[in-house]
Amino acid sequence: MSRLSRISGISGTTRKNQNKMTKVLNSRIPEGPVAQKWTEFKAHQRLVNPKNKLKLDVIVVGTGLAGASAASSLGEMGFNVLNFCIQDSPRRAHSIAAQGGINAAKCYQNDGDSVYRLFYDTVKGGDYRAREANVYRLAEVSNNIIDQCVAQGVPFAREYGGMLANRSFGGAQVSRTFYAKGQTGQQLLLGAYSSLMCQVNAGKVKLYTRYEMEDVVIIDGRARGIIAKNLVTGKLERFSGNAVVIATGGYGNAYFLSTNAMGCNCTAAIQCYRKGAMMANPSYVQIHPTCIPVHGDNQSKLTLMSESLRNDGRIWVPKNIEDAKALQAGTKQGWDIPEQDRDYYLERRYPAFGNLVPRDVASRAAKERCDKGFGVNNTGLAVFLDFSESIQRLGINEIRQRYGNLFDMYEEITDVNPGEFVRSEGGFDYYKPMMIFPAIHYTMGGIWVDYELQTTIPGLFAIGECNFSDHGANRLGASALMQGLADGYFVLPYTIQNYLADQSIWPRLSTDMPEFDEAEKAVDAELTRLLNIKGKRSVDSIHKELGHILWEHVGMGRTKEGLEEGIKLIKALRQEFNTNLFVPGAKEGLNVELDKAVHLRDFILMGELIATDALHREESCGGHFREEHQTEEGEAKRDDEHFFYVGAWEYQGNDDTTPVLNKEPLEYEIIKVQTRNYKN
Ligand SMILES: Cc1cc2nc3c(=O)[nH]c(=O)nc-3n(C[C@H](O)[C@H](O)[C@H](O)COP(=O)(O)OP(=O)(O)OC[C@H]3O[C@@H](n4cnc5c(N)ncnc54)[C@H](O)[C@@H]3O)c2cc1C
Repeated sequence: MSRLSRISGISGTTRKNQNKMTKVLNSRIPEGPVAQKWTEFKAHQRLVNPKNKLKLDVIVVGTGLAGASAASSLGEMGFNVLNFCIQDSPRRAHSIAAQGGINAAKCYQNDGDSVYRLFYDTVKGGDYRAREANVYRLAEVSNNIIDQCVAQGVPFAREYGGMLANRSFGGAQVSRTFYAKGQTGQQLLLGAYSSLMCQVNAGKVKLYTRYEMEDVVIIDGRARGIIAKNLVTGKLERFSGNAVVIATGGYGNAYFLSTNAMGCNCTAAIQCYRKGAMMANPSYVQIHPTCIPVHGDNQSKLTLMSESLRNDGRIWVPKNIEDAKALQAGTKQGWDIPEQDRDYYLERRYPAFGNLVPRDVASRAAKERCDKGFGVNNTGLAVFLDFSESIQRLGINEIRQRYGNLFDMYEEITDVNPGEFVRSEGGFDYYKPMMIFPAIHYTMGGIWVDYELQTTIPGLFAIGECNFSDHGANRLGASALMQGLADGYFVLPYTIQNYLADQSIWPRLSTDMPEFDEAEKAVDAELTRLLNIKGKRSVDSIHKELGHILWEHVGMGRTKEGLEEGIKLIKALRQEFNTNLFVPGAKEGLNVELDKAVHLRDFILMGELIATDALHREESCGGHFREEHQTEEGEAKRDDEHFFYVGAWEYQGNDDTTPVLNKEPLEYEIIKVQTRNYKN
């Protein structure tokens, strides 16, 4: 392979697997030592000269941290950017919800951090299923992100002396997380938004708000445009460009209940998959340990309590089953259980990392305690997150300064104030604890991209949460914001030039071309089909059923039988969707139910992909826990001999046919692959 091979995605090698031809994917990782690859790449990649940039149009779908940072950077570089989002303002992208922080290897705390350590922690946190070269690059550019954001005016928390403050997140023994109270995503997005609007004002970025990408248009094998629906008028419109960048976020809402914003969907990603982009590691779904527990059947949203709370909050359940039963019956409250009768099970099981073990480990440990009957709420599906010890040590003012808005949010939702003093006994002050339980939060899987963030369709790029690239089987806290901004500000603006370098010789493509006609007609026909089903069930009722199937069969603990059953149920649900869906209203004008129906059609396909991938991966790693594959202590048991690869699924022409599995073998040069250890 040449150092900067220009062949996209698929290498010449094919193999017979289960009677279908499978491909070995070429990730186009530059040669040389891991620490030098990115520098080498930038030194040798092709560039686009300033005059030619003026001739090139780039479509960026999404205005979250990934999309807004990419669109503003590309605009500033001189490209003409068309930037789309479904909300009425780029500022309402789901990234705004991010609470806890963003990682960077600045080592401001002088606690032994380094680019290497951030790289190592991320690969280890991902249970050795991430691509080494990508993760190194991510750690390398992490520091630039903080500088960029500070220059934009992002109000990161500071120490008394003026230095930027840091706190700790799971899977790390250093404090490398930069934050702005519990509103880090919002502040970072305001920074990216101001850069974006600067380019809008300069005429380099044209914004299309309330537009939803429905399809990608492929011409001569390359992504050359999109079909988007104006969500207000209902009209389908065509847009052409020299490259298309997808930055549309994750697919967690397939599970119906998740911490994601209600509008999060995977339609753009799935449509790219239907057109030939591969979907990698879809079974790697993150279940976050600290969410407010489900409280009833009519709930449509779950609320995250940021991982940052685990810096000072201690997680526990009672030691005695009688106390757990009393808590479930409501005859005792958390503060009635004396300190010596509390089981701080994370500190007990993982002394080296304590409450700051990675999310997959913390979630499974909570499930294990609740499965054994030690859950603390009326459903038995909750554990305590308690600040008593830290309030006593630091004072309520300090704790409120750190987490005030999270405490307020918890109180607004549950009517319990976690900072409220209840009683003192034996020198220990008891405060009301929070109750938390794991919930679907983030998706590590996504569109397969090579080192240059290009999918298997030339000219189609994927960045941010919608690609699969950097987190392996489990993402560490505060690393999603880092990845989205790394992709948008510092990686794609380089790598896309390697593709665009020879594109300026082509004239702008007219949207009257037959490929645009065909794509628009297909989208229109599909919307008509959905409206004409005229069945009896609402979108939400079918979506909720999908969520139940996925949580039950493809959730925290997965088995062969459960997954097979799940796939059967999902297929039956697709049939139900296709024959018994009811969508009110018309194609013209605003029709939110119709938009949701399109999302649901794609969540069903995504759900089946998650289950199919989980069924094939006969090992446990990170967020993918196969109950058949665990150690005696209940820890995930990987099978590196057979599954040390990225699994990338290829669509086979219709939603019902099982996709073909292609593989990208993982190659580690400097990290020794071993069993994860957070105990010592
Ligand atoms: C509650 C919560 C808290 C979090 N806290 C943290 C944290 O503290 N630290 C951290 O690192 N990570 C955190 N995360 C994860 C992180 O917020 C996300 O992974 C990240 O913000 C995703 O950014 P993105 O740009 O990839 O996508 P998003 O922010 O989801 O943006 C997607 C964009 O795509 C657009 N879009 C979607 N579909 C279409 C379509 N078909 N057509 C047109 N436009 C479309 C949307 O309008 C939007 O503009 C948190 C996640 C949640 C749910």
